[in-house]
Amino acid sequence: MLSIGVDIGGTKIAAGVVDEDGTIIAATTRSTPATDPELIEAGVADAVAELRSEHDVVGIGVGAAGFVGADRRTVVFAANLAWRHRSLAEELERLVSLPVVVENDANAAGWAEFRFGAATEAENMLMVTVGTGLGGAIVMNGQLVRGSGGFAGEIAHMTAVPQGQWCGCGRRGCLEQYTAGTALVRTAKRRAATGDPLMGPLVQAAGGAKKEIDGPLITRLAQQGDPGARELIAEIGGWLGEGLASIAALLDPEVIVVGGGVSAASDLLLDPAREAYAANLTARMHRTVAPFEQARMGNRAGIVGAADLAR
Ligand SMILES: [Zn+2]
Repeated sequence: MLSIGVDIGGTKIAAGVVDEDGTIIAATTRSTPATDPELIEAGVADAVAELRSEHDVVGIGVGAAGFVGADRRTVVFAANLAWRHRSLAEELERLVSLPVVVENDANAAGWAEFRFGAATEAENMLMVTVGTGLGGAIVMNGQLVRGSGGFAGEIAHMTAVPQGQWCGCGRRGCLEQYTAGTALVRTAKRRAATGDPLMGPLVQAAGGAKKEIDGPLITRLAQQGDPGARELIAEIGGWLGEGLASIAALLDPEVIVVGGGVSAASDLLLDPAREAYAANLTARMHRTVAPFEQARMGNRAGIVGAADLAR
């Protein structure tokens, strides 16, 4: 039984036909005209039509970067796309004449790791996506946790530091401001501006312009062994571990899966996170400390997870 998974990001629509083992057997992409909901939907319908010309599918799962209602049909709000209380499922069903379910993109990716990736042995999983921003997905007792309005698992805007860094959400001190690519880049630029010699190789790799420093560059230099870049990654790893220890007090996960662009730094990020997690965990002498696993599905996760949820 095949289904189609669609991953709608800020710049492109990626779609694939997925089988029951989580394998993508055909794929295609369209660019995302982020400002126009109808054009996004037409792009999805066009990609789906292309895939269906070669494959029989039973349904469509859509992962969207935004708040998705608990009904799994409505995009309530998306920061980088034009949807506001849009019934995406209904609009798409009209265009493609197949059942459609909509899921938050981080939830779709988390579901893919739970079903086919780094957490297939677990019943209780927490996944964090450390990219430009911070995403979260919760699976408890084998079920994706969506919350009463579909807003569960949004760990980015938990308060990490009262009165801390301003966040794009309008509040201060959110966990995302300390644990994601934005934090990496901000700290690197600040340290470079003070003439910190440890930031020298990073500025050089950015062509001498500290404004060109970005997350992927820091991750790459860290992988190559640069001490300054490694220190930056370790710092956000520490914050991540501390934040996850708080979350563990609530959820008691069996395994924590870490994905997203910064997770390419692997143990350079995960080891400091593990250490801070264990150090901040309540009753740590009397419980099993959840292992941190690197995500395995990579950028296929959104498509595979959405497709599996549609099945
Ligand atoms: Zn925030």
